[in-house]
Amino acid sequence: MSALVTQALVKRFGGVLATDEVSLKLEASEIHAVIGPNGAGKSTLIGQLAGEIAPDAGRVLLFGRDVTGEPAHRRAALGLARTYQVTQLAREFTALDNVLLAVNARLAHNFRFWRNAHDDVDAVARARAALATVGLEGRAQSTVAELAHGEQRQLEIAMALATEPRLLLLDEPLAGMSQGESVAIVALLQSLKGRYPMLLVEHDMEAVFALADRISVLVYGRIIASDRPGSIRNNAAVRAAYLGESV
Ligand code: ADP
Ligand code: MG
Repeated sequence: MSALVTQALVKRFGGVLATDEVSLKLEASEIHAVIGPNGAGKSTLIGQLAGEIAPDAGRVLLFGRDVTGEPAHRRAALGLARTYQVTQLAREFTALDNVLLAVNARLAHNFRFWRNAHDDVDAVARARAALATVGLEGRAQSTVAELAHGEQRQLEIAMALATEPRLLLLDEPLAGMSQGESVAIVALLQSLKGRYPMLLVEHDMEAVFALADRISVLVYGRIIASDRPGSIRNNAAVRAAYLGESV
């Protein structure tokens, strides 16, 4: 069973067809990258997968289940976690607190009531484990404002992991990073490969080709190619769409 399937997803914003009958599959334990120029509809696609944007037509299946009409928190409860293109962190809070907020936001929608996060030994242990996974164990008590940009992106991944997801949606996890920071995140994503199916939206082609098992190319809301990285690299339509860029 595919982890995630979209069937002919359509989303219009006024006259703009942001996604135009997008059909794709994310297979278990694969990294499926979605690439495309700015404005191609990548974030709109992720929003529809996460349940934050309602499609005008089409379906979304999560682990075989039709979730098209399900709100974001229901999809999160089914194991979908996402990171955002623009950071969503609470800057005055510590790294640990941000992860605890993510854990509790999920649990509050599930089966437990909100309570003082620091009193919940399980939640703290889970949050610390997630920080360690992304290499931020030494930064638990630093506020977000004190973290480097790359560390903030690592923290967002920790927040996603702490919810014990079954699937990750990553919207430009390398955006705004230095070369060194990118290398660290690529290594992190590589280490998570096989543990979580990941849908990865990313502009850094070196990272995409290093990580992805499959690449779909979105141009003006349409998937013009979806294939193994080697085939995408040699695809004439993709090269034409990316003329002047280093695919
Ligand atoms: P990408 O993430 O690939 O850069 P987006 O999904 O952000 O692209 O945007 C796709 C298209 O939809 C763009 O033309 C953008 O201007 C438009 N768009 C995205 N969100 C909205 C919105 N909330 N309202 C109106 N237009 C939008
Ligand atoms: Mg985007």
